[in-house]
Amino acid sequence: SLSNNSIKNWHIPDIEVPNYSRQGVKQGIVHLGVGGFHRSHLALYMHRLMQQHNTKDWSICGVGLIKPDAIMRDDLNSQDCLYTLLERGIDKSTTRVIGSITSYMYAPENPRAVIEKMANPDTRIVSLTVTESGYYHSEATASLQTEDPAIANDLKNPDTPCTIYGYLYEALLIRYNKGLAPFTVMSCDNMPENGKTLKSMLIAFAKLKNSKVASWISSEVASPNAMVDRVTPKTTDDDREYLAKILGIKDKCPVVCEPFIQWVLEDHFPQGRPDWEKVGVQVVSNVEPYELMKLRLLNGAHSEMGYLGYLAGYQYIHEVVTDPLINRYIRIMNREEVIPLLPKIEGVDFGEYSLSVLERFSNPAIKDQVSRICLMGSGKMPKYVLPSISEQLAKPDGKFDLLTLGVAGWFRYLRGVDMVGKEFEIEDVMASTLKEAANKGCDDPASLLGIETLFGDDLRNNKAFVDQLTNDMKLISNKGPLEAVRARLLAYK
Ligand code: NAD
Repeated sequence: SLSNNSIKNWHIPDIEVPNYSRQGVKQGIVHLGVGGFHRSHLALYMHRLMQQHNTKDWSICGVGLIKPDAIMRDDLNSQDCLYTLLERGIDKSTTRVIGSITSYMYAPENPRAVIEKMANPDTRIVSLTVTESGYYHSEATASLQTEDPAIANDLKNPDTPCTIYGYLYEALLIRYNKGLAPFTVMSCDNMPENGKTLKSMLIAFAKLKNSKVASWISSEVASPNAMVDRVTPKTTDDDREYLAKILGIKDKCPVVCEPFIQWVLEDHFPQGRPDWEKVGVQVVSNVEPYELMKLRLLNGAHSEMGYLGYLAGYQYIHEVVTDPLINRYIRIMNREEVIPLLPKIEGVDFGEYSLSVLERFSNPAIKDQVSRICLMGSGKMPKYVLPSISEQLAKPDGKFDLLTLGVAGWFRYLRGVDMVGKEFEIEDVMASTLKEAANKGCDDPASLLGIETLFGDDLRNNKAFVDQLTNDMKLISNKGPLEAVRARLLAYK
Protein backbone atom coordinates (compact mmCIF):
# COMPACT_ATOMS: atom_id res chain seq x y z
CA SER A 1 0.00 0.00 0.00
CA LEU A 2 1.01 3.62 -0.39
CA SER A 3 3.27 5.27 2.17
CA ASN A 4 6.36 7.47 2.28
CA ASN A 5 8.37 4.31 2.81
CA SER A 6 6.80 2.14 0.16
CA ILE A 7 7.32 4.68 -2.62
CA LYS A 8 11.03 4.93 -1.83
CA ASN A 9 11.57 1.46 -3.30
CA TRP A 10 9.03 1.74 -6.05
CA HIS A 11 9.66 -0.57 -9.01
CA ILE A 12 6.57 -0.32 -11.14
CA PRO A 13 7.57 0.79 -14.64
CA ASP A 14 5.75 3.78 -16.15
CA ILE A 15 4.33 4.96 -12.84
CA GLU A 16 5.67 8.29 -11.66
CA VAL A 17 6.20 8.75 -7.93
CA PRO A 18 7.24 11.89 -6.04
CA ASN A 19 10.98 12.53 -6.31
CA TYR A 20 10.78 15.43 -3.85
CA SER A 21 10.96 15.58 -0.12
CA ARG A 22 7.53 15.70 1.48
CA GLN A 23 8.68 16.01 5.04
CA GLY A 24 9.33 19.34 6.64
CA VAL A 25 8.20 21.29 3.56
CA LYS A 26 6.20 24.46 4.15
CA GLN A 27 2.49 24.41 3.44
CA GLY A 28 1.78 27.63 1.57
CA ILE A 29 -1.68 26.42 0.57
CA VAL A 30 -4.55 25.31 2.79
CA HIS A 31 -7.19 23.66 0.63
CA LEU A 32 -10.81 23.35 1.75
CA GLY A 33 -12.76 20.45 0.21
CA VAL A 34 -10.36 17.69 -0.80
CA GLY A 35 -12.57 15.75 -3.19
CA GLY A 36 -11.75 14.15 -6.51
CA PHE A 37 -11.41 17.36 -8.47
CA HIS A 38 -8.90 19.07 -6.21
CA ARG A 39 -6.75 15.96 -6.38
CA SER A 40 -6.91 15.75 -10.21
CA HIS A 41 -6.29 19.47 -10.71
CA LEU A 42 -4.60 21.88 -8.25
CA ALA A 43 -2.81 19.07 -6.40
CA LEU A 44 -1.47 17.80 -9.75
CA TYR A 45 -0.22 21.25 -10.78
CA MET A 46 1.56 21.51 -7.41
CA HIS A 47 2.97 18.00 -7.84
CA ARG A 48 4.35 18.99 -11.28
CA LEU A 49 6.01 22.07 -9.78
CA MET A 50 7.53 20.07 -6.95
CA GLN A 51 8.58 17.24 -9.26
CA GLN A 52 9.95 19.24 -12.19
CA HIS A 53 10.85 22.66 -10.79
CA ASN A 54 12.05 21.98 -7.28
CA THR A 55 9.25 24.14 -5.85
CA LYS A 56 9.28 24.28 -2.07
CA ASP A 57 7.10 26.21 0.41
CA TRP A 58 3.91 25.46 -1.46
CA SER A 59 2.80 22.02 -0.44
CA ILE A 60 -0.86 21.63 0.46
CA CYS A 61 -2.58 21.09 3.77
CA GLY A 62 -5.91 19.49 2.86
CA VAL A 63 -8.96 20.24 4.99
CA GLY A 64 -12.35 18.56 5.18
CA LEU A 65 -15.04 20.86 6.60
CA ILE A 66 -18.05 18.60 6.72
CA LYS A 67 -18.87 15.30 8.46
CA PRO A 68 -18.67 13.04 5.36
CA ASP A 69 -15.01 14.07 5.01
CA ALA A 70 -14.14 11.70 7.89
CA ILE A 71 -13.69 8.99 5.25
CA MET A 72 -11.16 11.08 3.32
CA ARG A 73 -9.34 11.80 6.58
CA ASP A 74 -9.03 8.10 7.38
CA ASP A 75 -8.08 7.07 3.85
CA LEU A 76 -5.53 9.79 3.20
CA ASN A 77 -3.96 9.68 6.64
CA SER A 78 -3.54 5.90 6.42
CA GLN A 79 -1.33 6.39 3.35
CA ASP A 80 0.67 9.51 4.30
CA CYS A 81 -1.69 11.61 2.14
CA LEU A 82 -0.35 9.95 -1.00
CA TYR A 83 -2.80 8.85 -3.68
CA THR A 84 -2.79 7.65 -7.26
CA LEU A 85 -4.03 9.74 -10.16
CA LEU A 86 -5.05 7.69 -13.16
CA GLU A 87 -5.56 9.70 -16.35
CA ARG A 88 -7.61 7.58 -18.70
CA GLY A 89 -7.41 8.45 -22.38
CA ILE A 90 -9.27 6.69 -25.17
CA ASP A 91 -6.21 4.63 -26.02
CA LYS A 92 -3.57 5.54 -23.46
CA SER A 93 -3.52 5.97 -19.68
CA THR A 94 -1.01 7.60 -17.37
CA THR A 95 -0.57 6.76 -13.71
CA ARG A 96 1.11 8.95 -11.11
CA VAL A 97 1.42 8.93 -7.36
CA ILE A 98 0.78 12.48 -6.15
CA GLY A 99 2.58 13.82 -3.09
CA SER A 100 1.74 17.53 -3.03
CA ILE A 101 -0.82 17.16 -0.23
CA THR A 102 1.40 16.75 2.81
CA SER A 103 -1.19 16.65 5.59
CA TYR A 104 -4.92 16.48 6.08
CA MET A 105 -7.07 18.07 8.79
CA TYR A 106 -10.64 17.11 9.53
CA ALA A 107 -12.27 20.28 10.76
CA PRO A 108 -15.34 18.99 12.67
CA GLU A 109 -13.00 17.23 15.12
CA ASN A 110 -11.05 20.39 15.97
CA PRO A 111 -12.30 23.53 14.22
CA ARG A 112 -9.89 25.84 16.10
CA ALA A 113 -6.86 23.90 14.84
CA VAL A 114 -7.98 24.52 11.25
CA ILE A 115 -8.65 28.20 11.94
CA GLU A 116 -5.17 28.54 13.50
CA LYS A 117 -3.63 26.76 10.53
CA MET A 118 -5.25 29.20 8.12
CA ALA A 119 -4.16 32.10 10.31
CA ASN A 120 -0.53 30.89 10.33
CA PRO A 121 1.67 33.29 8.33
CA ASP A 122 3.03 30.38 6.24
CA THR A 123 -0.44 30.02 4.73
CA ARG A 124 -0.49 32.39 1.79
CA ILE A 125 -3.37 30.92 -0.17
CA VAL A 126 -6.59 29.29 1.01
CA SER A 127 -8.03 27.48 -1.98
CA LEU A 128 -11.45 25.87 -2.24
CA THR A 129 -13.40 23.18 -4.07
CA VAL A 130 -16.48 22.88 -1.89
CA THR A 131 -19.05 22.48 -4.72
CA GLU A 132 -21.40 25.22 -5.86
CA SER A 133 -23.72 24.77 -2.89
CA GLY A 134 -20.85 25.26 -0.44
CA TYR A 135 -20.98 29.00 -1.22
CA TYR A 136 -24.56 29.57 0.04
CA HIS A 137 -24.95 31.99 -2.80
CA SER A 138 -28.29 32.73 -4.31
CA GLU A 139 -27.77 33.35 -8.02
CA ALA A 140 -31.23 34.85 -8.48
CA THR A 141 -30.75 37.48 -5.77
CA ALA A 142 -26.90 37.64 -5.88
CA SER A 143 -26.84 37.40 -2.10
CA LEU A 144 -25.61 35.25 0.77
CA GLN A 145 -28.24 32.83 2.04
CA THR A 146 -28.21 34.26 5.55
CA GLU A 147 -31.42 32.44 6.46
CA ASP A 148 -29.72 29.08 5.93
CA PRO A 149 -29.24 27.31 9.30
CA ALA A 150 -25.57 26.61 8.54
CA ILE A 151 -24.80 30.29 7.96
CA ALA A 152 -26.90 31.24 10.99
CA ASN A 153 -24.85 28.77 13.04
CA ASP A 154 -21.57 30.31 11.87
CA LEU A 155 -22.72 33.83 12.68
CA LYS A 156 -23.57 32.76 16.23
CA ASN A 157 -20.92 30.14 17.03
CA PRO A 158 -17.43 31.25 16.00
CA ASP A 159 -15.81 28.23 17.65
CA THR A 160 -17.85 25.60 15.87
CA PRO A 161 -18.36 26.83 12.32
CA CYS A 162 -19.67 24.55 9.60
CA THR A 163 -19.39 26.65 6.45
CA ILE A 164 -16.44 28.13 4.61
CA TYR A 165 -17.42 31.60 5.84
CA GLY A 166 -17.13 30.77 9.52
CA TYR A 167 -13.65 29.34 8.97
CA LEU A 168 -12.40 32.04 6.61
CA TYR A 169 -13.75 34.84 8.78
CA GLU A 170 -12.31 33.52 12.05
CA ALA A 171 -8.89 32.94 10.48
CA LEU A 172 -8.87 36.38 8.86
CA LEU A 173 -9.96 37.92 12.17
CA ILE A 174 -6.87 36.48 13.86
CA ARG A 175 -4.65 37.92 11.13
CA TYR A 176 -6.43 41.27 11.35
CA ASN A 177 -5.99 41.42 15.12
CA LYS A 178 -2.31 40.49 14.84
CA GLY A 179 -1.65 42.97 12.03
CA LEU A 180 -0.76 40.17 9.63
CA ALA A 181 -1.48 40.34 5.91
CA PRO A 182 -4.45 38.21 4.90
CA PHE A 183 -4.14 35.07 2.77
CA THR A 184 -5.47 35.06 -0.77
CA VAL A 185 -8.70 33.10 -1.16
CA MET A 186 -8.85 31.11 -4.38
CA SER A 187 -12.01 29.39 -5.51
CA CYS A 188 -11.51 26.47 -7.89
CA ASP A 189 -15.22 25.74 -8.13
CA ASN A 190 -17.34 26.02 -11.24
CA MET A 191 -19.13 29.28 -10.66
CA PRO A 192 -19.49 32.44 -12.70
CA GLU A 193 -16.92 34.93 -11.39
CA ASN A 194 -16.01 32.43 -8.68
CA GLY A 195 -13.42 34.67 -7.00
CA LYS A 196 -15.58 37.78 -7.07
CA THR A 197 -18.62 35.86 -5.83
CA LEU A 198 -16.68 34.23 -2.99
CA LYS A 199 -15.28 37.58 -1.89
CA SER A 200 -18.61 39.37 -1.95
CA MET A 201 -20.27 36.55 0.03
CA LEU A 202 -17.39 36.64 2.53
CA ILE A 203 -17.80 40.40 2.93
CA ALA A 204 -21.56 39.98 3.36
CA PHE A 205 -20.89 37.46 6.14
CA ALA A 206 -18.23 39.67 7.76
CA LYS A 207 -20.55 42.69 7.73
CA LEU A 208 -22.90 40.76 9.98
CA LYS A 209 -20.03 40.18 12.39
CA ASN A 210 -17.88 43.33 12.46
CA SER A 211 -17.95 46.19 9.99
CA LYS A 212 -14.27 47.14 10.47
CA VAL A 213 -13.11 43.62 9.68
CA ALA A 214 -15.51 43.58 6.74
CA SER A 215 -13.96 46.68 5.22
CA TRP A 216 -10.43 45.33 5.85
CA ILE A 217 -11.43 42.15 3.99
CA SER A 218 -12.92 44.27 1.25
CA SER A 219 -9.74 46.27 0.71
CA GLU A 220 -7.04 43.68 1.55
CA VAL A 221 -8.19 40.18 0.64
CA ALA A 222 -7.47 39.09 -2.91
CA SER A 223 -9.81 36.58 -4.50
CA PRO A 224 -8.84 35.92 -8.12
CA ASN A 225 -11.33 34.51 -10.59
CA ALA A 226 -10.49 31.23 -12.26
CA MET A 227 -11.80 28.88 -14.89
CA VAL A 228 -11.06 25.26 -14.06
CA ASP A 229 -11.59 22.20 -16.21
CA ARG A 230 -10.97 18.47 -15.99
CA VAL A 231 -13.65 15.79 -15.95
CA THR A 232 -13.19 13.83 -12.72
CA PRO A 233 -15.86 11.23 -11.98
CA LYS A 234 -16.44 9.70 -8.59
CA THR A 235 -13.96 6.94 -7.86
CA THR A 236 -15.54 3.48 -7.90
CA ASP A 237 -14.62 0.10 -6.41
CA ASP A 238 -13.80 -1.01 -9.96
CA ASP A 239 -11.16 1.74 -10.15
CA ARG A 240 -9.61 0.62 -6.87
CA GLU A 241 -9.66 -2.99 -8.04
CA TYR A 242 -8.10 -2.09 -11.39
CA LEU A 243 -5.23 -0.36 -9.63
CA ALA A 244 -4.73 -3.24 -7.22
CA LYS A 245 -4.96 -6.04 -9.78
CA ILE A 246 -3.45 -4.53 -12.91
CA LEU A 247 -0.93 -2.12 -11.44
CA GLY A 248 -0.35 -3.66 -8.04
CA ILE A 249 -1.15 -0.44 -6.15
CA LYS A 250 -3.33 -0.70 -3.09
CA ASP A 251 -4.89 2.74 -2.77
CA LYS A 252 -8.01 3.51 -0.71
CA CYS A 253 -8.68 6.81 -2.44
CA PRO A 254 -7.32 6.96 -5.99
CA VAL A 255 -8.62 9.51 -8.50
CA VAL A 256 -9.54 8.81 -12.11
CA CYS A 257 -9.83 11.62 -14.64
CA GLU A 258 -9.62 12.48 -18.32
CA PRO A 259 -6.26 13.48 -19.88
CA PHE A 260 -7.46 17.04 -20.62
CA ILE A 261 -6.67 19.68 -18.01
CA GLN A 262 -7.12 23.46 -18.04
CA TRP A 263 -6.83 26.29 -15.54
CA VAL A 264 -7.17 29.92 -16.56
CA LEU A 265 -6.38 32.18 -13.65
CA GLU A 266 -6.41 35.87 -12.85
CA ASP A 267 -3.07 37.10 -11.53
CA HIS A 268 -3.94 38.67 -8.21
CA PHE A 269 -1.85 37.23 -5.38
CA PRO A 270 -0.47 40.00 -3.12
CA GLN A 271 1.11 37.37 -0.83
CA GLY A 272 2.82 35.61 -3.74
CA ARG A 273 1.98 32.41 -5.56
CA PRO A 274 3.65 29.35 -7.09
CA ASP A 275 5.02 29.69 -10.66
CA TRP A 276 2.02 28.01 -12.18
CA GLU A 277 2.83 29.22 -15.72
CA LYS A 278 5.74 26.76 -15.69
CA VAL A 279 3.33 23.83 -15.58
CA GLY A 280 0.76 24.96 -18.11
CA VAL A 281 -1.59 27.27 -16.21
CA GLN A 282 -2.85 30.20 -18.33
CA VAL A 283 -2.42 33.31 -16.22
CA VAL A 284 -4.46 36.14 -17.76
CA SER A 285 -5.72 39.59 -16.82
CA ASN A 286 -9.40 38.81 -17.32
CA VAL A 287 -10.80 35.32 -16.85
CA GLU A 288 -14.44 36.18 -17.40
CA PRO A 289 -14.71 35.35 -21.12
CA TYR A 290 -13.02 31.97 -20.52
CA GLU A 291 -15.30 31.27 -17.59
CA LEU A 292 -18.41 32.09 -19.56
CA MET A 293 -17.25 29.91 -22.44
CA LYS A 294 -16.67 26.97 -20.14
CA LEU A 295 -19.64 27.31 -17.80
CA ARG A 296 -22.14 27.90 -20.57
CA LEU A 297 -20.82 25.56 -23.28
CA LEU A 298 -19.40 22.74 -21.18
CA ASN A 299 -21.17 22.75 -17.81
CA GLY A 300 -24.46 23.91 -19.32
CA ALA A 301 -24.37 21.15 -21.94
CA HIS A 302 -23.30 18.63 -19.30
CA SER A 303 -26.29 19.41 -17.09
CA GLU A 304 -28.80 19.49 -19.93
CA MET A 305 -27.60 16.20 -21.41
CA GLY A 306 -27.46 14.80 -17.88
CA TYR A 307 -31.15 15.27 -17.10
CA LEU A 308 -32.40 14.29 -20.55
CA GLY A 309 -29.95 11.37 -20.63
CA TYR A 310 -30.97 10.17 -17.17
CA LEU A 311 -34.63 10.18 -18.18
CA ALA A 312 -33.69 8.32 -21.35
CA GLY A 313 -32.23 5.58 -19.16
CA TYR A 314 -28.53 6.12 -19.76
CA GLN A 315 -26.00 5.39 -17.01
CA TYR A 316 -22.82 6.98 -18.37
CA ILE A 317 -22.16 10.33 -20.03
CA HIS A 318 -20.31 8.78 -22.99
CA GLU A 319 -23.50 6.85 -23.79
CA VAL A 320 -25.57 10.03 -23.64
CA VAL A 321 -23.21 12.05 -25.80
CA THR A 322 -22.98 9.36 -28.44
CA ASP A 323 -26.77 9.16 -28.73
CA PRO A 324 -27.15 10.83 -32.15
CA LEU A 325 -30.23 12.83 -31.12
CA ILE A 326 -28.73 14.22 -27.92
CA ASN A 327 -25.41 14.88 -29.62
CA ARG A 328 -27.14 16.88 -32.34
CA TYR A 329 -29.29 18.66 -29.77
CA ILE A 330 -26.25 19.86 -27.79
CA ARG A 331 -24.36 20.92 -30.91
CA ILE A 332 -27.27 22.95 -32.24
CA MET A 333 -28.17 24.37 -28.82
CA ASN A 334 -24.63 25.61 -28.26
CA ARG A 335 -24.37 26.97 -31.80
CA GLU A 336 -27.76 28.71 -31.96
CA GLU A 337 -28.56 29.72 -28.39
CA VAL A 338 -25.35 29.90 -26.36
CA ILE A 339 -22.39 30.89 -28.56
CA PRO A 340 -24.05 34.09 -29.87
CA LEU A 341 -24.17 35.38 -26.28
CA LEU A 342 -20.49 34.88 -25.49
CA PRO A 343 -17.92 37.70 -25.53
CA LYS A 344 -15.16 36.96 -28.07
CA ILE A 345 -11.76 35.58 -27.00
CA GLU A 346 -8.89 36.18 -29.38
CA GLY A 347 -7.60 32.95 -30.82
CA VAL A 348 -10.50 30.83 -29.52
CA ASP A 349 -13.15 29.39 -31.82
CA PHE A 350 -16.24 28.64 -29.72
CA GLY A 351 -17.65 26.25 -32.34
CA GLU A 352 -14.49 24.17 -32.17
CA TYR A 353 -14.48 24.39 -28.37
CA SER A 354 -18.05 23.08 -28.22
CA LEU A 355 -17.17 20.14 -30.48
CA SER A 356 -14.02 19.37 -28.50
CA VAL A 357 -16.12 19.21 -25.34
CA LEU A 358 -18.43 16.62 -26.92
CA GLU A 359 -15.38 14.67 -28.05
CA ARG A 360 -14.01 14.67 -24.48
CA PHE A 361 -17.37 13.59 -23.06
CA SER A 362 -17.45 10.66 -25.48
CA ASN A 363 -14.37 9.05 -23.88
CA PRO A 364 -15.70 5.64 -22.73
CA ALA A 365 -12.72 5.02 -20.45
CA ILE A 366 -13.87 7.76 -18.04
CA LYS A 367 -17.22 6.17 -17.22
CA ASP A 368 -18.58 9.42 -15.85
CA GLN A 369 -21.87 8.68 -14.14
CA VAL A 370 -24.97 10.49 -15.42
CA SER A 371 -26.18 10.52 -11.81
CA ARG A 372 -23.07 12.55 -10.81
CA ILE A 373 -23.87 15.16 -13.44
CA CYS A 374 -27.46 15.35 -12.21
CA LEU A 375 -26.68 15.95 -8.56
CA MET A 376 -26.94 19.42 -7.01
CA GLY A 377 -28.90 20.89 -9.89
CA SER A 378 -30.02 23.76 -7.67
CA GLY A 379 -26.38 24.86 -7.51
CA LYS A 380 -25.70 24.26 -11.19
CA MET A 381 -28.66 25.12 -13.41
CA PRO A 382 -28.97 28.74 -12.15
CA LYS A 383 -25.30 29.23 -12.95
CA TYR A 384 -24.80 27.28 -16.16
CA VAL A 385 -28.09 27.32 -18.05
CA LEU A 386 -30.60 29.87 -16.74
CA PRO A 387 -28.36 32.92 -17.44
CA SER A 388 -28.28 32.03 -21.16
CA ILE A 389 -32.07 31.83 -21.18
CA SER A 390 -32.39 35.16 -19.35
CA GLU A 391 -30.05 36.82 -21.83
CA GLN A 392 -31.91 35.37 -24.80
CA LEU A 393 -35.24 36.54 -23.35
CA ALA A 394 -33.85 40.04 -23.01
CA LYS A 395 -33.16 40.16 -26.77
CA PRO A 396 -36.00 41.08 -29.12
CA ASP A 397 -35.46 37.95 -31.25
CA GLY A 398 -33.92 35.71 -28.58
CA LYS A 399 -33.76 31.95 -29.17
CA PHE A 400 -34.23 29.76 -26.12
CA ASP A 401 -36.21 26.67 -27.21
CA LEU A 402 -33.43 24.12 -26.89
CA LEU A 403 -32.12 25.51 -23.61
CA THR A 404 -35.65 25.37 -22.24
CA LEU A 405 -36.00 21.71 -23.16
CA GLY A 406 -33.07 20.95 -20.85
CA VAL A 407 -34.82 22.83 -18.03
CA ALA A 408 -37.94 20.76 -18.70
CA GLY A 409 -35.74 17.66 -18.36
CA TRP A 410 -34.46 18.92 -15.00
CA PHE A 411 -38.00 19.65 -13.77
CA ARG A 412 -39.17 16.20 -14.83
CA TYR A 413 -36.14 14.62 -13.13
CA LEU A 414 -36.96 16.50 -9.91
CA ARG A 415 -40.11 14.42 -9.47
CA GLY A 416 -37.77 11.66 -8.33
CA VAL A 417 -39.43 9.05 -10.56
CA ASP A 418 -38.04 8.04 -13.94
CA MET A 419 -39.98 7.46 -17.15
CA VAL A 420 -40.72 3.83 -16.28
CA GLY A 421 -42.00 4.73 -12.82
CA LYS A 422 -38.88 3.80 -10.87
CA GLU A 423 -38.16 6.04 -7.90
CA PHE A 424 -34.67 7.41 -7.34
CA GLU A 425 -33.05 9.71 -4.84
CA ILE A 426 -32.43 13.34 -5.72
CA GLU A 427 -29.06 14.43 -4.33
CA ASP A 428 -29.40 18.13 -3.74
CA VAL A 429 -29.27 20.37 -0.68
CA MET A 430 -32.75 21.53 -1.72
CA ALA A 431 -33.98 18.02 -2.58
CA SER A 432 -37.16 17.98 -0.51
CA THR A 433 -38.31 21.47 -1.56
CA LEU A 434 -37.58 20.71 -5.20
CA LYS A 435 -39.24 17.31 -5.19
CA GLU A 436 -42.34 18.63 -3.50
CA ALA A 437 -42.66 21.53 -5.94
CA ALA A 438 -42.01 19.28 -8.94
CA ASN A 439 -44.69 16.81 -7.90
CA LYS A 440 -47.18 19.50 -6.95
CA GLY A 441 -46.83 21.09 -10.35
CA CYS A 442 -46.64 17.94 -12.51
CA ASP A 443 -46.49 19.41 -16.02
CA ASP A 444 -47.05 22.93 -14.72
CA PRO A 445 -43.71 24.60 -13.92
CA ALA A 446 -45.22 27.36 -11.72
CA SER A 447 -44.40 25.76 -8.35
CA LEU A 448 -40.76 25.23 -9.21
CA LEU A 449 -40.41 28.64 -10.90
CA GLY A 450 -41.80 30.16 -7.69
CA ILE A 451 -38.59 29.28 -5.79
CA GLU A 452 -37.03 32.71 -5.49
CA THR A 453 -33.47 31.67 -4.69
CA LEU A 454 -33.29 29.80 -8.00
CA PHE A 455 -35.40 31.70 -10.52
CA GLY A 456 -35.61 35.40 -11.24
CA ASP A 457 -38.78 37.31 -12.13
CA ASP A 458 -37.48 37.66 -15.68
CA LEU A 459 -38.04 33.91 -16.12
CA ARG A 460 -41.08 33.44 -13.91
CA ASN A 461 -43.01 36.30 -15.52
CA ASN A 462 -42.06 35.67 -19.12
CA LYS A 463 -45.07 34.13 -20.84
CA ALA A 464 -43.17 32.89 -23.89
CA PHE A 465 -40.67 31.06 -21.70
CA VAL A 466 -43.27 29.62 -19.32
CA ASP A 467 -45.42 28.43 -22.25
CA GLN A 468 -42.44 26.83 -23.95
CA LEU A 469 -41.37 25.15 -20.72
CA THR A 470 -44.89 23.85 -20.05
CA ASN A 471 -45.12 22.43 -23.58
CA ASP A 472 -41.73 20.80 -23.22
CA MET A 473 -42.68 19.23 -19.91
CA LYS A 474 -45.85 17.83 -21.47
CA LEU A 475 -43.91 16.57 -24.46
CA ILE A 476 -41.41 14.76 -22.22
CA SER A 477 -44.23 13.25 -20.15
CA ASN A 478 -46.18 12.10 -23.21
CA LYS A 479 -43.46 11.07 -25.61
CA GLY A 480 -40.33 10.62 -23.53
CA PRO A 481 -37.14 12.68 -23.55
CA LEU A 482 -35.68 11.45 -26.84
CA GLU A 483 -38.86 12.00 -28.83
CA ALA A 484 -39.08 15.45 -27.23
CA VAL A 485 -35.55 16.20 -28.44
CA ARG A 486 -36.42 14.89 -31.91
CA ALA A 487 -39.52 17.10 -32.05
CA ARG A 488 -37.65 20.25 -31.03
CA LEU A 489 -34.91 19.58 -33.56
CA LEU A 490 -37.40 19.50 -36.43
CA ALA A 491 -36.99 23.26 -36.70
CA TYR A 492 -33.33 22.69 -37.57
CA LYS A 493 -33.56 20.37 -40.56
P1 NAD B 1 -16.33 15.60 -4.52
O1 NAD B 1 -17.68 15.18 -4.12
O2 NAD B 1 -15.30 14.57 -4.80
O3 NAD B 1 -15.72 16.59 -3.42
C1 NAD B 1 -16.42 17.68 -2.96
C2 NAD B 1 -15.72 18.26 -1.76
O4 NAD B 1 -16.46 19.42 -1.35
C3 NAD B 1 -15.67 17.33 -0.57
O5 NAD B 1 -14.44 17.46 0.07
C4 NAD B 1 -16.77 17.86 0.33
O6 NAD B 1 -16.56 17.65 1.65
C5 NAD B 1 -16.73 19.33 0.02
N1 NAD B 1 -18.02 19.98 0.29
C6 NAD B 1 -19.23 19.68 -0.26
N2 NAD B 1 -20.17 20.50 0.24
C7 NAD B 1 -19.55 21.32 1.12
C8 NAD B 1 -19.98 22.38 1.97
N3 NAD B 1 -21.27 22.74 2.00
N4 NAD B 1 -19.07 23.00 2.75
C9 NAD B 1 -17.77 22.62 2.73
N5 NAD B 1 -17.30 21.63 1.96
C10 NAD B 1 -18.18 20.99 1.17
O7 NAD B 1 -16.54 16.54 -5.79
P2 NAD B 1 -15.44 17.02 -6.83
O8 NAD B 1 -15.50 16.15 -8.02
O9 NAD B 1 -14.15 17.19 -6.13
O10 NAD B 1 -16.02 18.42 -7.27
C11 NAD B 1 -16.01 19.50 -6.40
C12 NAD B 1 -16.21 20.77 -7.19
O11 NAD B 1 -15.11 20.97 -8.06
C13 NAD B 1 -17.41 20.77 -8.13
O12 NAD B 1 -18.60 21.06 -7.47
C14 NAD B 1 -17.01 21.84 -9.12
O13 NAD B 1 -17.33 23.13 -8.62
C15 NAD B 1 -15.51 21.68 -9.19
N6 NAD B 1 -15.15 20.94 -10.42
C16 NAD B 1 -15.34 19.59 -10.51
C17 NAD B 1 -15.05 18.92 -11.70
C18 NAD B 1 -15.28 17.44 -11.84
O14 NAD B 1 -15.27 16.96 -12.97
N7 NAD B 1 -15.45 16.69 -10.79
C19 NAD B 1 -14.54 19.66 -12.79
C20 NAD B 1 -14.35 21.04 -12.65
C21 NAD B 1 -14.66 21.66 -11.47
